[in-house]
Amino acid sequence: MSSNFLNTPIEYLKSVGPQKAELLKKELRIFKYTDLLTYYPFRYVDRTKFYKVKEINADLPYVQLRGKIVNTEMVGVKRTQRFVATFADESGKLELVWFQGAKWISEKIKPHFTNEYIVFGKPTYFNGKFNISHPEIELVSDENTTFASALQAVYNTTEKLKVRSIDTKGIARMQKALTALIKNNIPEILSNTVKERFHLISREEAFKQIHFPQNPEMLKKAEFRLKFEELFFIQLKLLKQKGIREKTYKGFVFSKVGGYFNDFYNNHLMFELTNAQKRVIKEIRLDMCSGKQMNRLLQGDVGSGKTMVALMNMLIALDNGFQACLMAPTEILANQHYETISEQLKPLNINVGLLTGSKKVKQRRIIHEQLQSGEMQILIGTHALLEDVVQFKNIGLVVIDEQHRFGVAQRAKMWNKNTQAPHMLIMSATPIPRTLAMTLYGDLDVSVIDELPPGRKPIQTVHRYDSSRDRVFGFMKEQIELGRQIYVVYPLIKESEKMDYKDLIDGYESITRVFPLPDYQVSIVHGQMKADAKEYEMQRFVKGETQIMVATTVIEVGVNVPNASVMVIESAERFGLSQLHQLRGRVGRGADQSYCILMTSHKLGTDGKLRMETMVRTNDGFEIADVDMKLRGPGDMAGTIQSGVLDLNIADLAKDGQILHAARNMVIEILSEDPNLEQSENSNIAYHFATMNSNKTNWSRIS
Ligand code: ADP
Ligand code: MG
Repeated sequence: MSSNFLNTPIEYLKSVGPQKAELLKKELRIFKYTDLLTYYPFRYVDRTKFYKVKEINADLPYVQLRGKIVNTEMVGVKRTQRFVATFADESGKLELVWFQGAKWISEKIKPHFTNEYIVFGKPTYFNGKFNISHPEIELVSDENTTFASALQAVYNTTEKLKVRSIDTKGIARMQKALTALIKNNIPEILSNTVKERFHLISREEAFKQIHFPQNPEMLKKAEFRLKFEELFFIQLKLLKQKGIREKTYKGFVFSKVGGYFNDFYNNHLMFELTNAQKRVIKEIRLDMCSGKQMNRLLQGDVGSGKTMVALMNMLIALDNGFQACLMAPTEILANQHYETISEQLKPLNINVGLLTGSKKVKQRRIIHEQLQSGEMQILIGTHALLEDVVQFKNIGLVVIDEQHRFGVAQRAKMWNKNTQAPHMLIMSATPIPRTLAMTLYGDLDVSVIDELPPGRKPIQTVHRYDSSRDRVFGFMKEQIELGRQIYVVYPLIKESEKMDYKDLIDGYESITRVFPLPDYQVSIVHGQMKADAKEYEMQRFVKGETQIMVATTVIEVGVNVPNASVMVIESAERFGLSQLHQLRGRVGRGADQSYCILMTSHKLGTDGKLRMETMVRTNDGFEIADVDMKLRGPGDMAGTIQSGVLDLNIADLAKDGQILHAARNMVIEILSEDPNLEQSENSNIAYHFATMNSNKTNWSRIS
């Protein structure tokens, strides 16, 4: 089989040998030819362009110059000895400096009136002028002037590799040796149809061009081909998974929309549903009567009304003789859901229960019994729902709110709460970009609520520096006089917990000085308080007994106080974008104009500035998520739970959305015609898919 070539151990490559091979394995996890070939450059330098000395500025990462050496000298002694060559072209002069190998280089480079050199390196500004230390330097010859017409790959390496002369040039040399061996020995892994449809170059050609591009057009083609195949096989994996699951797990058929749903919809709904809510409720309903087990992600911006969508679908479960449950990540949030939902369902006489960690043993026992007898129809709670003692008579729909806080294993637990897996509706707390959703949740169906309930006044967001704190306090006073309530939030980062608590307490004290008793009441809530003390303070604020709530991000998730209309975020530069957006979502829930004030110090990096600007510019969670992904990268954004699927080698979810869409649609098309990849047309794909899965640890996942 020709794939033997790709599986050849790296030590067989000319110039590698056992010792270097060992290093390559340890440092870069390069074991075989295929690993080296797929060790792609992280960027390219344009060796077609020659700069003039006078064009050099601090923004240029690398420059290539052509000119003469007009002077050389050895400067300093022993340790500090360095070799300095003065380089000149028509436009000016520049010093080239070597600290290491000074003696050796001094013998190679001589001042000369006619000989020309090509110099390549990174200019640095020192003592009022530019110089280049340790440049690449070569005499101009036919060879290097033709060579200089190519884009040159730059590879990441490590310090350990560099001292063994496996720097970027060293890797390039190995790639040169390896690509020279490529000759009809790289099997194609895509089908002709796919290749033709997207005008993909062959895999073989792509490997050559990615390391040694002939020109920018060929490089683009190689990148496109390799990104496409990477995304294609990830999507194939996810969608096959989905197909297998759909075949394996039959779903309860909720065939009717009955009394509960209709009564609630016609008589007890407090507001008109938005069109987006209606559409999404319908999508979910159709899914739940299809005979397949539903695994659906419900995305919607903060305040878009996901809870109502969940509630209406739970009623459908009840109408079909099933129970439903809603699981939230925190006790506060579970309580809040319980209160709103049981309140709304009161006229329907539905038995709604609440199960959280703080429930007493006796109360729990009652709940457990009622669940088993079927008397309790809807259960709302926290992680406590996952426990094995929690058994239902007939659970049909599981709703999980604020998805990212629960892991896969926890979701799996909910699958086993009935003889047949219940339908799963997963509600995401923060919008995530579509590309990320398609990868992280590529095996789920997705519904999006892309519309906020009417009549909401967009929150006004401003950025203020610490120096204008007095004015901010003044504004807060005005708002309190109007009867509003205010959140003041402090960051709490694990690494600097102590400092953060100090900031929080200092902040609290200064606020109580500016807003003194008895005119003002200030609540404080943070992670080091006991649960009941926290709850008490929360409740005082919820009831309107306090005007200001000073808190760490414990309030990040979910609480709903419509009268709170100002959110002040301290040290806002220390929060990520999605967190800032979440926090801002705590206000703007009532009829009043709401405000978000981002406080930062004057020392603000480029990223920090961009985050503040983005928050001030837009309220659109999906847009914010896009910027967030560009800043942080998809892996960081998704957290660690499922980052396995995000170990992308060449594709970039922040940039390659179109390729991802194309690849996913192609996979859908192929699987709809040939679900088991049995047609000869798809044999390349099937073969590669099988090897891919036998090589790697199985990351098959449940919903
Ligand atoms: P989220 O999507 O962030 O979970 P919620 O479900 O908590 O949002 O809804 C936010 C607020 O909007 C709640 O007070 C809810 O009652 C209200 N709401 C939901 N849907 C509508 C609607 N169609 N019209 C008016 N208000 C609505
Ligand atoms: Mg919510």
